[in-house]
Amino acid sequence: MALAATEQHHCGHSGAIGVYVHVPWCRAKCDYCAFVSQPIYDARLVEAVVEHSVVLLQRRLRLCGNPRVDTVYVGGGTPTVLSAALLQRLLGGIAACVGPRVREWTVEANPDNVTDLPLGCLAHCGVTRLSIGIQSFQPRLLHVLGRSCRTVDPDRALSALACRWSGQWSLDLISGIVDQSVLEATDDVERAVGYGPPHISLYDLTIEPGTPLARRLGRPAVSAFVNRAALTSATAAGVLQRCGYRRYEVSSYARAGAESLHNGGYWAMRDFIGVGPSAVSALSRADGTVVRYCDPSDIPAFLLLGRNGGCWGRAERVNRRSLILERAMLGLRSAAGVSPAEITGQLDRAGAAAVRQLLQRWAARGDARLTATRLTMTTGGWQRLDFCLRELAALIGLS
Ligand code: SF4
Repeated sequence: MALAATEQHHCGHSGAIGVYVHVPWCRAKCDYCAFVSQPIYDARLVEAVVEHSVVLLQRRLRLCGNPRVDTVYVGGGTPTVLSAALLQRLLGGIAACVGPRVREWTVEANPDNVTDLPLGCLAHCGVTRLSIGIQSFQPRLLHVLGRSCRTVDPDRALSALACRWSGQWSLDLISGIVDQSVLEATDDVERAVGYGPPHISLYDLTIEPGTPLARRLGRPAVSAFVNRAALTSATAAGVLQRCGYRRYEVSSYARAGAESLHNGGYWAMRDFIGVGPSAVSALSRADGTVVRYCDPSDIPAFLLLGRNGGCWGRAERVNRRSLILERAMLGLRSAAGVSPAEITGQLDRAGAAAVRQLLQRWAARGDARLTATRLTMTTGGWQRLDFCLRELAALIGLS
């Protein structure tokens, strides 16, 4: 749909929003990666993207009436691949835009640049949380993933972090790696726990079409790994829970109080402004709909955004049915779940009754827990979440 690029956005609610800044650079491209990221080949281009991101963020916040920003997430890519000076410029620019009331500010990092990170400066700019992408401690599995930083000693990086960082942090792992054994999955999780991270993310490997990993494996091999991946992922999840981490979202485990506020806002479909190549903003409107603005993935096209006075990328209005499905897709990933009324409330009487019956079937077969006020998935339901969501999509006419 076409919206005026200069449109003043009247947010549908007055609550705080989140900000996401995408840094599209990495030291090298990993074989499984489908994110918008590329190695740095032109320092001036990197600088231009950083400066343009800050300018766009400032304009977007202004067009939204300068709402209170309470979480910031700088991801990518690998933000910490920027030179220390440029990283400080980016973080300082963001800090000037978002003001002093940020409760949580996360920056993603990879182990190959943790030891050189200007951690004091990050904290000074307002960063409260680091998210370290270890993915696996096994060189063999890092090799399978084609990880760009596979030759880096994770122990060195994590020990440096322990000495020099006093804020929150998350250690990110991937499970279900092609031909990963249950023993290897358990070992990865136990080693991660040994470093004492307050938060651990345990993502299932997704083999994205078109990536070097997908091409290397071929379609028959990919389907052969699916069952095994489910077993290694479930085993790793069990180890984390036995070690005292609460699973508060399909892929997220935390000690008490260390849950990610920013991601929590995303799962709750709070408004957020995204900036950077491929970043998405989602802003609710007073009429209950949501408008999503997508920045171009192409870096030169991103740099042209706003040259005509506007500042938003391609806009699409999300209709009510799609919103129901998205609310279920995001909310049911989290242990908090959703209110059944959030899924049925926008439907006519017959549609709402049909969806309520479906939710009761989920509960009857053990996939969900349903009360008058809450719908949450069980552990088994999380494993079958895609299937359940396909059922819901079909019922509300979205498949
Ligand atoms: S470090 Fe992350 S963003 Fe960068 S190439 Fe690897 S998977 Fe992609």
